[in-house]
Amino acid sequence: AQVRNAATIGGNIANGSPIGDGPPALIAMGATLHLRHGDTRRSLPLEDFFIDYGKQDRAPGEFVEAITVPKLPTGKNDTLRCYKISKRFDQDISALCGCINITRAGDVITDARIAFGGMAGTPKRASQTEALLINQPFDEATIRRAMDALALDYQPMTDMRASAQYRLLTAQNLLLRYLHDLNGLPTNLHEVTA
Ligand SMILES: Cc1cc2nc3c(=O)[nH]c(=O)nc-3n(C[C@H](O)[C@H](O)[C@H](O)COP(=O)(O)OP(=O)(O)OC[C@H]3O[C@@H](n4cnc5c(N)ncnc54)[C@H](O)[C@@H]3O)c2cc1C
Repeated sequence: AQVRNAATIGGNIANGSPIGDGPPALIAMGATLHLRHGDTRRSLPLEDFFIDYGKQDRAPGEFVEAITVPKLPTGKNDTLRCYKISKRFDQDISALCGCINITRAGDVITDARIAFGGMAGTPKRASQTEALLINQPFDEATIRRAMDALALDYQPMTDMRASAQYRLLTAQNLLLRYLHDLNGLPTNLHEVTA
């Protein structure tokens, strides 16, 4: 049976859904996936596990044995934020789920890991947006350029949960929300507006 309702992190990953909520968060944290078949083990960055819609880098008989998440270096602030957007407020599958983790030295961005669910056939990193952010100041002008770049990383689809246009606009606006959240500005849990 495909659904056992065990609700494990391993199952949430191996299930391979493009709208699972665990993978974008774990990818944004830099997680490593550990696969095992008998005594043979291999590890890979979690983002590399998701090849295409319905296709994962998992051989017959291989199973998810563990996931490693890097420990936050001492003295570093927690910069990860995850935003789940769904039609209902409670208990709903994501239309999209954005996980953003931007590291700074002073005001300059030194690293960026951004992953979205619901924006492609797999949980996917925003590689072009991430590259644009590096060595830039963490301010609204930078984030607005990143919002534009997000359209290069994602060409989402329209389905029963959201239109392609809604998905892209909302994902872009979540970058702005991230900036506001980290700067301590008030945000509204029920709305995502620019
Ligand atoms: C009504 C409904 C709502 C849902 N809402 C959400 C949601 O909001 N967010 C979200 O992220 N997901 C959601 N899901 C998806 C569901 O949460 C995932 O399918 C679940 O996380 C899978 O975990 P599990 O441990 O129950 O896996 P299972 O259901 O037991 O297994 C799922 C698949 O993965 C395989 N598998 C399980 N564990 C492993 C392993 N360790 N190694 C290799 N293969 C393995 C199984 O063989 C099976 O094919 C929803 C599902 C349903 C039915």
